[in-house]
Amino acid sequence: MAQVSQFQSSESSETSREARQSSNANGVADITIIGAGPCGLFAAYYAGFREMKTVVLDALPEPGGQLAVLYPEKYIYDVPGYPQVLAKDLVNSLVQQATRYNPVMALGEKAEELKPNGEKLYLVKTDKSSYLTKTILITAGVGSFSPNKLNIPDQEKYEGTGIFYFVKHKETFRDKNLLIVGGGDSAVDWALNLKDIARSILLIHRRDQFRAHEQSVKELYNSPKIEVKTFHELKSVSGENGKLKQAVIFENRSMKTETIPVDCILVNIGFKANLGPISNWGLQMENRSIKVNGRMETNLPGVYAAGDVAIQEGSVKLNLIATGFAQAAIAVNVAKKYVDPKAQLFPGHSSEKSA
Ligand SMILES: Cc1cc2nc3c(=O)[nH]c(=O)nc-3n(C[C@H](O)[C@H](O)[C@H](O)COP(=O)(O)OP(=O)(O)OC[C@H]3O[C@@H](n4cnc5c(N)ncnc54)[C@H](O)[C@@H]3O)c2cc1C
Repeated sequence: MAQVSQFQSSESSETSREARQSSNANGVADITIIGAGPCGLFAAYYAGFREMKTVVLDALPEPGGQLAVLYPEKYIYDVPGYPQVLAKDLVNSLVQQATRYNPVMALGEKAEELKPNGEKLYLVKTDKSSYLTKTILITAGVGSFSPNKLNIPDQEKYEGTGIFYFVKHKETFRDKNLLIVGGGDSAVDWALNLKDIARSILLIHRRDQFRAHEQSVKELYNSPKIEVKTFHELKSVSGENGKLKQAVIFENRSMKTETIPVDCILVNIGFKANLGPISNWGLQMENRSIKVNGRMETNLPGVYAAGDVAIQEGSVKLNLIATGFAQAAIAVNVAKKYVDPKAQLFPGHSSEKSA
């Protein structure tokens, strides 16, 4: 966990003591940002620019949200100013920008409770500590996400060494016999992305209809380096000395099995997203999103939401990085005015501020 600056969290279990400790010894944050995905990181920059004492919490040990976890090695083409940028490189730039004004970066801490604490203050309790804050910006995306797993014996034995759910580093698959399971965008894109790195790629899918982009599926079938078997599923895995060696796959109409040598399996069959405790904070929700108005205000005073987690009244919901950035900027500037009613809503131009 990276903790910076004077805002240290308290460790006590008793709420009022925690609050006292936070406020007296450690200061009260002007804004606590829950979620260090692209939206939360950009919000942290803006909060610093507005001279707000800022805490950024994320349940994950690293910042970047979906970009860092789900697709760090993919190119993004629709972030303004970047004709193309690797997701992990965008995260690095966002972290550099976000930390310019030294916010507390409390990574590896999951926000669990939100309680009003006195007048115009909230106490955010995490699984590790607690933070007293004047405002809160929830940029929790789809919540904490976990990959869907197959129900096969012994899979835990090989997770992280032979069985993977994300591609963190493409090099992990260099010269490997790779089995990819799935028929959505992730499975198909990774087969195409890794075809020049892996020694061999077999992609199996339980149906003959893909949920991936048509063009990518065409490319998949046209790629001589990728073998595709539809109506196939994974039955079991085995290895030696903890090293994955074989997989048994089966044709799900004939039930005929086949044993194939594999070094790695990439299981890309979707994710479960769970907003978890945030849904119990008394926020008005629509499906699994937090309702906000045009100022990114929720129904709780001083609590804002932006990015994938937010659904904005009278707007359309586009879960994109670019739209999340704009919402983050609005939320922080509105929060600034809430904390300091004399402050201007318009932040001024960053280009006019000396470095
Ligand atoms: C495969 C894929 C490709 C994509 N490609 C593009 C693209 O090309 N262009 C584009 O614009 N968008 C793309 N997107 C969408 C884009 O990634 C999202 O719109 C963006 O990540 C949303 O950012 P966010 O900050 O709102 O949330 P997220 O990125 O989801 O980050 C939310 C963070 O909040 C944290 N969190 C959640 N709950 C808690 C809690 N209780 N306590 C503490 N932390 C918590 C999570 O751990 C996470 O780190 C893609 C998405 C996927 C899955």
